[in-house]
Amino acid sequence: MRAEVIAIGDELTGGQRLDTNSQWLSQQFALLGVSVTHHTTVGDDHDAIVDVLATACRRSALVLVSGGLGPTADDLTRQAIAALTGRPLVQDDQSLEYIRGLFARRGRPMPEQNIIQACFPEGSRPIANVEGTAPGIHVTLDGPGGTPVDLFALPGVPAELKPMWQATVAPAIAARLGAARRVIQQREIRCFGAGESDIESRLPDLIRRGRDPLVGITASEATITLRVTAEGATCAECEAKIAPTVATIYNCLGSLVFGENDTQLQDAVCDLLADRGAVVATAEWGTAGLVSSWLGGARRAATAFRGGLIVQDLPALTRWLGFDVNTKPPSPPDPPRYVAQMARAVRERFNTDYGLAVGPCPDSESAGQVHLAVAARGDTIGESFTFAAHPAIQRHRCAKQALNLLRLSILERRI
Ligand code: AMP
Ligand code: MG
Repeated sequence: MRAEVIAIGDELTGGQRLDTNSQWLSQQFALLGVSVTHHTTVGDDHDAIVDVLATACRRSALVLVSGGLGPTADDLTRQAIAALTGRPLVQDDQSLEYIRGLFARRGRPMPEQNIIQACFPEGSRPIANVEGTAPGIHVTLDGPGGTPVDLFALPGVPAELKPMWQATVAPAIAARLGAARRVIQQREIRCFGAGESDIESRLPDLIRRGRDPLVGITASEATITLRVTAEGATCAECEAKIAPTVATIYNCLGSLVFGENDTQLQDAVCDLLADRGAVVATAEWGTAGLVSSWLGGARRAATAFRGGLIVQDLPALTRWLGFDVNTKPPSPPDPPRYVAQMARAVRERFNTDYGLAVGPCPDSESAGQVHLAVAARGDTIGESFTFAAHPAIQRHRCAKQALNLLRLSILERRI
């Protein structure tokens, strides 16, 4: 069964507010085994809303609308549903009593314009809202080929929409699905160290559309996520479909994979360290404490991360890490050498198994080199990488690259 979500509001189309309701609602549909095929966002415009509703009802059996149920002149969802169905708005006395009671409990008279919130297209059912004044609307229409279309409209306020979904909408959808109810399961495989298309080319035609299970690929600040999604009658059926695809991914990508689902690079690093009874300390320049902040928030930080130092210039390095970077003119500082020194010095200072160091980040969008180093007992390895990224993501990118260097150093026993 197909579902779609429509978000209504000028604040959404105008960019003032992010449409988080559609994200949440799609997650809820997935729990019911229903996949959402469309998200549509439309402003507070009566005819545009009617148009979007009509399109959705032509192609989907379940349509979920959020927003536009308030009492003001820009809240037009109920009028649009009335226009779509060709039925008049009629007052529901029980809802009106409820809204009046709500105002009375707050010690205020109900403004006249709130009466509209007790009006529903003829033949529709109100959806109780225990958190606010606007009840939702449930209307069943005749869809193409005689398939019924269930249209649910909920208020846009997330704190009202969510309990209304849980209490009324989800049970109604589950009842409609009955024995046909399907389960959707998903596993996310998270990778670092190669680009999206490079990762795709290493996989044997897994990203093909229409495949079962379906594999999707997304990139976020150089972390690549492969989403493996299966649909079936039971969780076990889905898991059986997903497992061979996941095994293929692990086989093809090897150490590019660092974890699954919510795992971040810092979690993967702390897991590796904790499993080996090892501890790390950090010395950061260009990342200004980001690596240590991430490590400090990792799942097993307490056993794997001892602390770190942040420096912003060469004098600070000399003072806090106690070594001379040898900048005597005319010889310029040699970043790969002093970053390796940083890693060794912080390891000694904190008495840890590993020292992880990040040199300065290039401070503009122009391509520049970043130097990283990991020190372990008796050995230090360094890595220099060149990148040009928007300043807003530069530090994140450097911090991830540093964590990945440490991860691979431990994993592949490079030191
Ligand atoms: P409405 O039901 O249209 O009166 O919306 C009430 C409030 O809910 C708006 O002012 C927004 O702050 C919030 N809201 C509306 N739609 C969404 C949405 N799709 N995602 C997140 N918040 C929303
Ligand atoms: Mg609105």
